[in-house]
Amino acid sequence: MALALVLNSGSSSLKFQILDPEAEATAEPFAAGLVEQVGEPMGRITIKHAGEKWVEELPIPDHGVGLNRVFVMLDEHGIGPSNLDITAVGHRVVHGGLLFSQPAVITDEILEMVRDLIPLAPLHNPANIVGIEVARELLPSIPHVAVFDTGFFHSLPPAAALYAINASVAGQQGIRRYGFHGTSHEYVSQQVPALIGRDPEHTHQIVCHLGNGASISAVHNGHAIDTSMGMTPLAGIVMGTRSGDIDPGIVFHLLRSGMSVDEVDDLLNKKSGVKGISGVNDFRELRAMIQQENSDAWLAYNVYIHNLRKYIGSYMIALGRVDAITFTAGVGENDANVRADALADLEEYGIILDPERNALPNTGPRIISTPESKVKICVVPTNEELAIAKYAVALAH
Ligand code: AMP
Repeated sequence: MALALVLNSGSSSLKFQILDPEAEATAEPFAAGLVEQVGEPMGRITIKHAGEKWVEELPIPDHGVGLNRVFVMLDEHGIGPSNLDITAVGHRVVHGGLLFSQPAVITDEILEMVRDLIPLAPLHNPANIVGIEVARELLPSIPHVAVFDTGFFHSLPPAAALYAINASVAGQQGIRRYGFHGTSHEYVSQQVPALIGRDPEHTHQIVCHLGNGASISAVHNGHAIDTSMGMTPLAGIVMGTRSGDIDPGIVFHLLRSGMSVDEVDDLLNKKSGVKGISGVNDFRELRAMIQQENSDAWLAYNVYIHNLRKYIGSYMIALGRVDAITFTAGVGENDANVRADALADLEEYGIILDPERNALPNTGPRIISTPESKVKICVVPTNEELAIAKYAVALAH
């Protein structure tokens, strides 16, 4: 079986999957794992394969040591890269800036270009580059492919991409809307036309990627025409721990009140959103708190839903006609209440959810609107690793 290795490298962690690029989105990968606490006194490697789990605790001074140890552990169980038919390695790269609209086979030149984009994603791209470097060293004879989170949004029309700030400053600093979660929005939006029986060239759709990070996109005949995340993934709808859109004046206010730049960054990225209001970011916990009549949880949920509905409404106008509204990612796929509340009372707009279909478990792509609903409401499980694996294998040949 031809497999792909997909790597998602963070500053102190490295996630990987070995998977069949032809598998269903809901299928378990062949193997998956996580290297954590890289660079700290004690690190941890967890690998899952065929219902088993192997855990090792050891100091992991850098990503190279971590990935090397992962390969040794896989080898010990007879499933190391030398035992498998791995045809390509796909790397998640957060920021492709204006340089990359498509995934790219990684060469030294491409890697230099990704390096040039570090100022736009100072926290993410350096970690992605380290992952690419160590994986290329360990697997030099397999093609490596970079898949960019921003790629799908490269072609946003200028009216959606530009911020109304001083043009020369924006130009010098590369300030514009890049959008993120593009691999997921593209993957999900490509599945919807077949699901609802429409020609992809004539499908107007809204994709709601509601995970811990969350974003919405408007997709017109296969092309993204707007998306909620901006120059950074902090913008847009309310998220698990990120504020989403706020009055930019709040940032100056906080800075003048004595908070440092890093403190404000941390506040808005990690201590805000649903968690900032309720204390929790997991929607299962939030629901349990709402059931216990916790007023903060209820407020956080209402702020979340209100914001989500505003975005859906604005994309309905941007698209003119909407054929499908699709939910994906952890919350979008599993939380029937969020879907129902996001689209409640929109019958006038031809949006009618079927409560019974909405309540069904997350088994695969499905329509959850009534047959009369002019706008089809869908749930399509996303799988960014699978999408990256598909790209990697396609480009490697
Ligand atoms: P993701 O970022 O796509 O992995 O989504 C993670 C989030 O999905 C978690 O923080 C939860 O809020 C949410 N989630 C996962 N499973 C469920 C579930 N069964 N019901 C409600 N929310 C869920």
